[in-house]
Amino acid sequence: MIVDQDRVAVALSGGKDSTALLLLLHHLLPVWEDVRLIAITIDEGIAGYREDTIQSAEQLTSRLGIEHHSISFTALFGESLDTVLTGRETQACSICGILRKKALVVGAELAGATKLATGHNLDDEAQSVLMNVFRGDLPRLVRNSRLDTSGKFIPRIKPLSRISEKEIAMYLMLNNAWRDLPECPYTRYALRREVRSILSGFEYKHPGTMRHLMESKEKIERFCQDSVISEPLRSCRECGDPCSGDLCQVCLLRQSLGK
Ligand code: SF4
Ligand code: ZN
Repeated sequence: MIVDQDRVAVALSGGKDSTALLLLLHHLLPVWEDVRLIAITIDEGIAGYREDTIQSAEQLTSRLGIEHHSISFTALFGESLDTVLTGRETQACSICGILRKKALVVGAELAGATKLATGHNLDDEAQSVLMNVFRGDLPRLVRNSRLDTSGKFIPRIKPLSRISEKEIAMYLMLNNAWRDLPECPYTRYALRREVRSILSGFEYKHPGTMRHLMESKEKIERFCQDSVISEPLRSCRECGDPCSGDLCQVCLLRQSLGK
């Protein structure tokens, strides 16, 4: 995922996964020649939640001596997430996810990154597989893991995608980096929360469930490689971002919000 001379932008929310990712990559730096890390924190504008994680991100980057950039939804989109979500709270995570992805790409481009690394772990990835299956969204199931090789977009990498949440928690504890942080207030609306609880129960009773789910996804991807659902990435008509249709998700969202 990382090669010599890469400039890796790490999406650092300040939560446990991204903290572990930055620590781990920082620890591994001697493995590569001339690789640089830059941390990017997105402030969505979620009152009573983001302050603590942003502070944690600032402390970590200054301790490790890593260049750190913060980008807020307000600066980028003109409004905080709290404002955008007024009356739309049940759609919180899908709206937040779309806008945050865009903010990270902007941050990575500004930092001159050659890779954008996110802290998604095995649990997150397995949950996404199940959520896409529950929604009947096979194209997204396949699309999610595609690496753009056109050179037009910064490739996204997920170095922790085979590591479980439990192992990450253990890694943080062993490195004295564990911190109790508040939970996002919108989590209660998230389908992911229910899926997480189902999957954790299965993993507990049948160890390996999450790994098997990922293996199934990879097999489906291989079957779909040449089919219509794995059509090549296109550029958004409005902003030029990678997308599979005419408009990217951000422009589609803007349209649906009437902005
Ligand atoms: Fe955004 Fe949902 Fe995560 Fe909160 S729980 S930060 S709304 S994706
Ligand atoms: Zn667009």
